[in-house]
Amino acid sequence: MVINMLDGPFLRAKKIIDLLEERGHQAYFVGGSVRDLLLQRSIGDIDITTSALPEQVQAIFPKVIPVGIEHGTVIVRMAGQSYEVTTFRVEGNYSDYRHPDHVQYVDRIEEDLARRDFTINGIAMDKHGKILDPFGGKQAIENQLIQTVGTATERFKEDPLRMMRALRFASQLGFSLEAATFAALTSHINWLEKIAIERIAVEMQKLFSGDHVEQAIKLLLEVELERYLPVIRNQNTLVGALNNHQVPLQSWSEMLACFCQYDPSVSLHTWTKEWKLSNKTKQDASYLLEAIDYFNKEQLDAWLVYRLPEHLESGFLRLLGIFCPELQPLSAQLCEIRECLPVQSRQEIVMDGNDLISLFPQRSRGPWLNTVLQLLEEHVVLGKVANEKQQLKAWVTNEIYPTTLD
Ligand code: ATP
Ligand code: MG
Repeated sequence: MVINMLDGPFLRAKKIIDLLEERGHQAYFVGGSVRDLLLQRSIGDIDITTSALPEQVQAIFPKVIPVGIEHGTVIVRMAGQSYEVTTFRVEGNYSDYRHPDHVQYVDRIEEDLARRDFTINGIAMDKHGKILDPFGGKQAIENQLIQTVGTATERFKEDPLRMMRALRFASQLGFSLEAATFAALTSHINWLEKIAIERIAVEMQKLFSGDHVEQAIKLLLEVELERYLPVIRNQNTLVGALNNHQVPLQSWSEMLACFCQYDPSVSLHTWTKEWKLSNKTKQDASYLLEAIDYFNKEQLDAWLVYRLPEHLESGFLRLLGIFCPELQPLSAQLCEIRECLPVQSRQEIVMDGNDLISLFPQRSRGPWLNTVLQLLEEHVVLGKVANEKQQLKAWVTNEIYPTTLD
């Protein structure tokens, strides 16, 4: 079978294969990109597998990042894109359940494909679009099945994270689990307790972002995988809510905000700590929760939009879709309000703390300054007073000062 891929991202990535082949190495496209091409889905990252050793890859390309060099992976940068180029390899045991103890480089692509998790991910394609599929991955794609390469129990024992990955592919692709793969997963789901939470968290986010998240969560609960998920395993209310969850969420911050809405008894701090998430994720989740809370009290206005960082807008709208589904889509309104915001941040307000001190020389510095600055910010954002020095001065002196500060 030959795929026509004369344009698009594969054509750009083909240059890498050309160069490797010119130096006498074998090289193929592999993994998710080939699977998604066969599925006619949009292509994510393009990974390349090669017989060249990592040092040889490094010597061939001018811009490389040796991120995973101990596992044979080098990132090649070309025309503003990154490509993972990994040497054909087989893996040793995963005794720390995180990285294989050792990797062994091999010469044949078939051996490399054999170490891959599922048959749908064990397909390679040469630069002419010719498919290599020793494990029947194409057939599995046609049958919409997730099936391990080799015996499921063995493959899950080697790396139990694959059980979680099976569910995330079910969520992204809408595929079912092949019978033996499902049986092994059900019997050995407890092996997941060995897996580092950071690895589970990556797959969990991908699971929640899939179009078929509803189906995947049902499957997750059916095999009782929640018993190995921090926080969730202790919260019956949350598990109940997740059983009816339908909307794909695109980041951990959206997920946290959603989970806290389902079950407010767990703090963001606990979530972040237990799942080892970043402070940025926690902060973004907190912005989202603040926006939802404000929306429930005040509806959509300039203050909400001003407080909500722009990169969280789409997540906020998705969450409203879950928690306020009766509302009309607010996306256009939100954009319009953002475009008309009088200021983007407190720094743009033409009156600052020093101006206030000189306006009220009789008062000593203190918390009142921040109180006034906050009120100013809110009123300017909501358009109740113009961001203009004289007007702000008059407004502070006549309206805020007498009521707020005395
Ligand atoms: P995505 O489009 O989400 O990136 P992907 O299939 O590329 O999907 P990755 O996690 O990026 O998934 O992994 C790239 C490839 O590496 C997979 O297609 C699979 O062949 C192999 N792989 C990744 N993780 C494992 C694992 N734990 N065990 C075996 N093979 C794996
Ligand atoms: Mg990938």
